Amino acid sequence: MAVERTLGIIKPNALNDDVLGKVITHYEKAGLKIAAMKMTHLTKEKAEGFYIEHKERPFFGGLVNFMTSAPCVLVVIEGDNAVLRNREIMGDTNPADADEGTIRKLYAKSMQANAIHGSDSQTSAEREIAFFFEKGEIFTRF
Ligand code: ADP
Ligand code: MG
Repeated sequence: MAVERTLGIIKPNALNDDVLGKVITHYEKAGLKIAAMKMTHLTKEKAEGFYIEHKERPFFGGLVNFMTSAPCVLVVIEGDNAVLRNREIMGDTNPADADEGTIRKLYAKSMQANAIHGSDSQTSAEREIAFFFEKGEIFTRF
């Protein structure tokens, strides 16, 4: 399998609930390594730009408000098949449908405040990583 990179965001509700360390532990236990990490408080412009694909969806305004309500942590995650592997350990977008033991099942509060983001494809991952990180801020862990 190929080593890939994907973007994760530990969302405001997870930081407010003090489960940042627990979320990072899920990545580490899945064999995914942290290649870059930073804390930020997203501006409205940055949150809107990041979620641009959802601009016309009814939840867009609420999502942007939530994502700008408090700081979050951005991570670049590296590992074999990282995009798909990360989506597996995240669990379903709706925590009510997420499998037992997944990050969203454990730490999501609602469909909106669902604890984490993870890129949904290699193409998205490339765009999302470049949206937040300079090349020199990312470290090869394999
Ligand atoms: P995912 O984060 O699993 O890739 P989407 O890309 O479909 O899910 O949606 C982006 C984010 O928008 C979700 O993680 C969630 O925070 C929010 N969201 C999606 N659908 C809804 C909804 N129906 N109601 C409220 N928030 C939603
Ligand atoms: Mg998505």
